[in-house]
Amino acid sequence: MTELPPPISAEIANAIRNVPDFPKPGIQFKDITPLLADPRLFAGSIELLIDGLKPGMVDAVVGIDARGFIFASAAALRLGAGFVPIRKKGKLPFTTHEQDYALEYGHGTVAVHTDALKPGSRVLLIDDLLATGGTAAAAAALVRRLGAEILRISFLIELKFLHGREKLKGYPIDSIVAY
Ligand code: AMP
Repeated sequence: MTELPPPISAEIANAIRNVPDFPKPGIQFKDITPLLADPRLFAGSIELLIDGLKPGMVDAVVGIDARGFIFASAAALRLGAGFVPIRKKGKLPFTTHEQDYALEYGHGTVAVHTDALKPGSRVLLIDDLLATGGTAAAAAALVRRLGAEILRISFLIELKFLHGREKLKGYPIDSIVAY
């Protein structure tokens, strides 16, 4: 019997490096740089992030600062869609909408340009990792504030034990690798 190759999602999972105690004690940082350096796995992760979507179905792929940009810009090219960045507060030069979200200690703020999306445009929202869901929920709120429609939120990695999906109720969620 010939052995089947492992599914690409398993190879993608193997290419994600766990770095303990970064950036602070107790955090297991999911380092995606080995995955990005492998052209086959990088391309495969983009295909899985856009799975089921075809050019013409999405007007904009919105990426979340900063690692979300890497995947969202490649996905946008694949889908023939525009790319829109949601950035940490203070980085975007034009007029912005801002949204606060809770962090372990204190809060963060994300921002989007006020003219980044046309009302009614169809959006795929992408980030590298879903942890508590605060960042993605704030980003989704900004997309909605511009009057755009979220078709799906796609993550490369999901830390299931943090129950981030509970903050994203009402949105279709997809992740490639779950811990
Ligand atoms: P959260 O708002 O808690 O869902 O956090 C998600 C954001 O924080 C994403 O943009 C991730 O890039 C980053 N993040 C959170 N936890 C980790 C982790 N263990 N490894 C790498 N990035 C993380």
